[in-house]
Amino acid sequence: MTARRIDGKAAALAIRGRVAELVPAFEKRAGRAPGLATVLVGEDPASAVYVRSKNRATAETGMISFAHNLPDTTSEDELLQLVIELNADERVDGILVQLPLPAQINAARVIETIDPGKDVDGFHPMNAGRLATGLPSLVPCTPYGCLYLLKQELDSLSGLDAVVIGRSNIVGKPMAQLLLGESATVTIAHSRTRDLPSVARRADIVIAAVGRAEMVRGDWIKPGACVIDVGINRVPTSDGKGRLVGDVAFAEAAEVAAAITPVPGGVGPMTIAMLMRNTLVAAHRRAGLADPEGL
Ligand code: NAP
Repeated sequence: MTARRIDGKAAALAIRGRVAELVPAFEKRAGRAPGLATVLVGEDPASAVYVRSKNRATAETGMISFAHNLPDTTSEDELLQLVIELNADERVDGILVQLPLPAQINAARVIETIDPGKDVDGFHPMNAGRLATGLPSLVPCTPYGCLYLLKQELDSLSGLDAVVIGRSNIVGKPMAQLLLGESATVTIAHSRTRDLPSVARRADIVIAAVGRAEMVRGDWIKPGACVIDVGINRVPTSDGKGRLVGDVAFAEAAEVAAAITPVPGGVGPMTIAMLMRNTLVAAHRRAGLADPEGL
């Protein structure tokens, strides 16, 4: 391996530590701690693990966690009603509805019902539009975490060629907007892109957000490029437990790249750290305070 291994775990710990440092000052000025409400519908084991980690992280930073666990038979109206109540609850600064939702619930309708000022996932069309037009917004946690790692690694992204593989509203599209905001030259690739290996090979920055285990091979990477692997894929192992891999064939890509995120321990921990950051930022804005510094 020649590439530097980008340590998302360490960066995430630093951000969470900074949030924890800033919470008491907010509490002093606002007379209450910031609050994050999580909503989990159903019993998908992976979603339950994510939501538990988010609640734990919230408590560890000194913020208040309001956990709502609903059965998978919950109707769309019932969920919308809860969101409306959370919008009105003064103790709640951030609302996170864990996706995916059961089939009877239209996720877009739920996201549109969340107060944009409490939309700490940054998925509301108002926040997506503000990001696209360069206005202050709440930015989706995963791409914001990727940007943080990139900026730590590369002094400036200005003029660099960036290829984002994946165009979801959650990762690919906001990632592209953030890179554009840093003056990178951005290409968004997807399942219809022709000759993806050649497209990727011209990039100084490759962001893989596809959901296909080790799809991006070493010979897709330009020597010296910076590779951010968003993918989380479980592949079978002989002991039956399975193992997590990214969308990038790590060992191959690490021979060519200058820097690369591992899976696990790269982008994953940054998502929760940025959720903590967004909750603190949302709390400041709701209280009419300037955004906290150093985040
Ligand atoms: P998604 O909504 O399924 O989007 C996947 C994207 O990949 C789509 O735009 C799709 O293109 C594209 N794609 C699929 N097959 C492709 C191919 N063969 N070649 C090129 N592009 C292809 O997934 P997502 O929510 O963005 O998540 C992507 C990955 O990131 C998943 O592994 C997910 O688990 C992971 N993730 C990780 C975190 C984290 O915290 N680390 C957070 C969120 C997601 P089309 O649009 O043309 O179908």
